[in-house]
Amino acid sequence: MINEKPQRIVVIGAGIVGASFAYHLASKGAQVTVVEAQGIASGVTGTSFAWINTSCTGPDPIAALRGGAIAAYRRLETQVPGLTVRWHGALSYGTPDGRVSPASILIDRSRIAQLEPHLRQPPEQALYEPAQGALDAVAATHALLAVAQALGATVRTHTPVLGFTVQDARVTGVKTAAGVIEADVIVLAAGTGTAALAAQLGASLPIHASPAIFMRYKAPPGLVRGIISSHAMEVRQNADGTLLAAEDYVDEAPENQPAAMARRAASAIRNELEGADAIALELACVGLRPMPFDGVPIIGYLPQVEGAYVCAMHPGVVLAAIVGQLASEEIVDGQPASALEACRPARFQA
Ligand SMILES: Cc1cc2nc3c(=O)[nH]c(=O)nc-3n(C[C@H](O)[C@H](O)[C@H](O)COP(=O)(O)OP(=O)(O)OC[C@H]3O[C@@H](n4cnc5c(N)ncnc54)[C@H](O)[C@@H]3O)c2cc1C
Repeated sequence: MINEKPQRIVVIGAGIVGASFAYHLASKGAQVTVVEAQGIASGVTGTSFAWINTSCTGPDPIAALRGGAIAAYRRLETQVPGLTVRWHGALSYGTPDGRVSPASILIDRSRIAQLEPHLRQPPEQALYEPAQGALDAVAATHALLAVAQALGATVRTHTPVLGFTVQDARVTGVKTAAGVIEADVIVLAAGTGTAALAAQLGASLPIHASPAIFMRYKAPPGLVRGIISSHAMEVRQNADGTLLAAEDYVDEAPENQPAAMARRAASAIRNELEGADAIALELACVGLRPMPFDGVPIIGYLPQVEGAYVCAMHPGVVLAAIVGQLASEEIVDGQPASALEACRPARFQA
């Protein structure tokens, strides 16, 4: 860990996580450069269901992060023009995972029908999470970076980071095809690319590229009011009217590829929702989520070399706001955040 206030910070990755870091670091006065291999939000952030779902099954080593996630987004909404969360709540029923949050309420069929009047057969009971919402992750990433730039940050897209310069066991810059960008601290927020970058610094981080299927349909307005997560479908409707759905990736069989899954999901949605007959598929694809092997985010300085901070996590949209805030306090102010203690990369050193 470094002792002086870092001035020049290079954030690698312009997904929602890198964008949140860039915004929070720039608002603390750091000189920030974001370096992105492709375009803004071109990684998994571009195909996220983006549900601010703070529920969890069983004991939760990051309960403090999840517990602060909604308040952190509510704060960002007041600070970042264009970052808007739709706080419409979420309904869950008949799902196998049994995730709950302390704020969930058990509601009956008549209340479910009020909340989602297009459900053909509302279940007898559902869990309702009134405080939860969802956002447009691409728009939020652009909004965060726009404010970071207004605060002096530079964003370099189509600039893959190829390696690092290191002196006396301390990172001094990142190598790109256009030359070295000097840095006092680097932040690896490169999603599924984070492990390969960390390996160049001598750190072995077990991060799995975990596939999930994203689907987007053209749909009539007002079909779904909040989020519905059931045995049959996981759907929500964007402000622009498009209907989003997500499914677990099953395997490589042709019947489980995105186009086939999207056809099955569409017929499930038509069965479940009155007025959904006209939905039409716009996009179905696989997104690769950066998933630490033990399921716990990897956040903090790498022990192998000074000045290299890492952030790889799932659920990255849920946690981006709170983690950006706490990590920027660690990096710029030197204030370790106890809520991040379970996340340190050093746990993989043994
Ligand atoms: C179908 C689906 C549904 C999901 N639903 C949810 C949900 O409801 N809630 C939730 O919280 N999460 C959800 N997720 C997961 C969420 O989308 C991710 O956790 C989050 O977007 C990760 O953001 P990131 O910024 O870490 O990664 P990314 O968005 O992948 O950003 C990393 C960036 O780093 C860049 N990069 C990589 N290597 C380099 C390099 N060498 N040099 C420069 N740049 C580099 C990449 O190009 C990329 O743009 C879902 C994902 C999928 C696929």
